[in-house]
Amino acid sequence: DSQKAASGMQQKVEMNVKNVILVLSGKGGVGKSTVAVNLAMALSNKGYKTGIADADIHGPNIPKMLGIEDEKLNSYDGKHIEPVMLTGKLGVVSMAFLLPDKSSPIIWRGSMKNTAIRQFLEDVNWGDLDYLVVDLPPGTGDEALSIAQLAPNIAGAVIVTTPQEVAILDSTKSVKFIEKLGLKVLGIIENMSGLICPHCGDTIDIFGIGGGKKAADELSVPYLGRIPIDPDMRKAGDEGKPFIMRRDGTEQNKETWKHVDEV
Ligand code: ADP
Repeated sequence: DSQKAASGMQQKVEMNVKNVILVLSGKGGVGKSTVAVNLAMALSNKGYKTGIADADIHGPNIPKMLGIEDEKLNSYDGKHIEPVMLTGKLGVVSMAFLLPDKSSPIIWRGSMKNTAIRQFLEDVNWGDLDYLVVDLPPGTGDEALSIAQLAPNIAGAVIVTTPQEVAILDSTKSVKFIEKLGLKVLGIIENMSGLICPHCGDTIDIFGIGGGKKAADELSVPYLGRIPIDPDMRKAGDEGKPFIMRRDGTEQNKETWKHVDEV
């Protein structure tokens, strides 16, 4: 069946990782990379040995969000790749480190993407990892298929969506895609879920609220929580300092923190 075909075509790579977590969304711009960097940073801060692989080959934004976009990948033996280490703990690999200039598009066939992803898993000196967080491109493309086939110990996928109807439709596709690959959906995160007015504290329903929960219920997958629209979240991405490193953000982000902590 398709599940077997998808997972049986290629041998799993050998790497020492206890849990691979895929972060996926049905479409772009919903906060998938934001969730991936904050999740990886949170796991690393908790003391887990964590890596983050930016498998979004056409739009590799992870290094920018982590403030390390000028770094390059090194190799000491010409065979293995050293991940860029953030705060000495969190290993990062991304196509962005390999591009000659940041605005060059990558024009690759599926087989080349598959090779790149294999190298990100197999040829990187990750060491022993508790978690590898993989940021996938939006949709149901080659990269997700490659990871599903190649990565060992895939704990499952976190699906990021925004609350409105069209986005939910896209995330439904993501859920079905993951399930077709024989993988577990760890749950849905509803991002950009309402805007908390900084003046009065009331919530403004920009894209609505609750769509992610509704989709999770309908699809019988866990609902992991929601994250409101918060200008500091956007600022954190632009400044290359993940939101969860900004807990000093005090009273102003109290409501956002409540939700982020729940997630
Ligand atoms: P994707 O990976 O799905 O394309 P990104 O994580 O790059 O999405 O997010 C798109 C933009 O929205 C980025 O500028 C990011 O900083 C911003 N963003 C994401 N989540 C939030 C949020 N909860 N509040 C405000 N801005 C957000």
